[in-house]
Amino acid sequence: MTLKTRLTLLYTTLVGSVLLLFGVVVYSFYSVTLIKETDDRLENTFLEILKVTRLNSVGDLEVIALPPLDLTANVYIQAWDREGRLNAYSSNAMRMTTPLDPLGLQAAEPLFRNVTLGNARLRVLSVPLQVGSRPIGILQIAANISVIESARRSLLNVLLITAIVVMSLAGVAAWWTTQQALAPLEEVTNTALRITRADDLSSRIPYHGSSQDEVSQLIQAFNQTLGRLEHLFHTQRQFLTDVGHELRTPLTVIKGNVDLLRRMGCTDEESLSGIESEVDRLTRLVGDLLLLAQAEARKLPLDRRPVELDTLLLEVLGQFQVLAKENNIQVHIGEIDQVLVCGDRDRLKQVLLNILGNGLKYTPQGGKITLSLGKTDKMARLTITDTGPGIPPDDLPHIFERFYRAEKSRTKRDKEGFGLGLSIANWIVKGHGGRIEVDSRLGVGTTFCIWLPLMGDDC
Ligand code: ADP
Repeated sequence: MTLKTRLTLLYTTLVGSVLLLFGVVVYSFYSVTLIKETDDRLENTFLEILKVTRLNSVGDLEVIALPPLDLTANVYIQAWDREGRLNAYSSNAMRMTTPLDPLGLQAAEPLFRNVTLGNARLRVLSVPLQVGSRPIGILQIAANISVIESARRSLLNVLLITAIVVMSLAGVAAWWTTQQALAPLEEVTNTALRITRADDLSSRIPYHGSSQDEVSQLIQAFNQTLGRLEHLFHTQRQFLTDVGHELRTPLTVIKGNVDLLRRMGCTDEESLSGIESEVDRLTRLVGDLLLLAQAEARKLPLDRRPVELDTLLLEVLGQFQVLAKENNIQVHIGEIDQVLVCGDRDRLKQVLLNILGNGLKYTPQGGKITLSLGKTDKMARLTITDTGPGIPPDDLPHIFERFYRAEKSRTKRDKEGFGLGLSIANWIVKGHGGRIEVDSRLGVGTTFCIWLPLMGDDC
């Protein structure tokens, strides 16, 4: 069964149930009120008759006269003595020699019953008359309730017709509204099918209704998912292209060198070191890729222990001093606080190596790199500032993406990295609950600021 049919049936059933409940309440209230009014009338008549009821000398029933009340106008009265003889009756019941309610004659206590007499429907009150505990007869008082019954039938008909009309209208309205509300969903289905068939994730579902309604929110969420998928597929494709590209150069160099060695028929030191350096490069690339894959899957194992960040910084700096001197780059150490963080020492070292390494790689001879380490209430702040060429503003938002290299740095083959260093550093810092900020001005230099949470009690 379609959702449209189910919703329509649900709405119609709900409306039907409400109408049924309403009908039952109205019908019952109406019936009970009218019958109660009749019963009151019969009881009042009985009390009037009781006032004029006498016993004769032998203690039998004797009704002297029936009360001259208006009440009796539409009321039939019969008084039966204990031998079953009709003792008295109202003028309008004159011709009735049969009891108004034969069963009521056996009543041991006052009894109301609806009976059919000829064509008439009567409400009959049968009251046993007693002197002490001795029964002396039965008084039956009846009122015609044909009018009430026909009014009840009319009310029932009106209620039924109203229910059918309202339920039909509710059904049509529910069908129409559901159709309107679900129409955009068909659009979603069609777009999804179109995307699957054409393998084109660039399609988006248009929606012209209010941006607040649920369907619009569903469409927005679906469009966002499509956007995300499109981005993922794009980056995956880009990733394959990048990896292929990175692998091709070292493999070509290795192949060239092997060909050369074969032609020469002997080992040549230069070719061998060329092969070795490209194999090292490939090994580094594969290592970086594996690390990145683990980090992106959030499965990077971190062996967290207390780490003295100041000691680690000086240790890394020691490794770079020689290189810095060779390149005639001054390394200036600014303010260094003692800072303790909870982290994986090797991974944090890798972050410093990557960022400091970039500083050395991109800062020209005679340039300067300044390091400082401080802390705020909860965070450690490590800044590395260089006087390099700076990063173009267009490239700045992308430098943490894998394989991203700013245009300028691509041309320098000797300085070429894989464009993975910052991406890896970023993932590691994120894994420690921190973040990396970068500020760069073309021709002035670049500042990387690494924020890491200070060690808490849970380390
Ligand atoms: P790479 O291995 O190419 O250095 P990274 O991920 O470490 O890759 O850096 C991405 C890009 O960011 C680099 O290609 C370079 O263009 C730019 N970059 C990073 N650090 C610096 C810096 N200190 N000065 C100028 N450019 C930088």
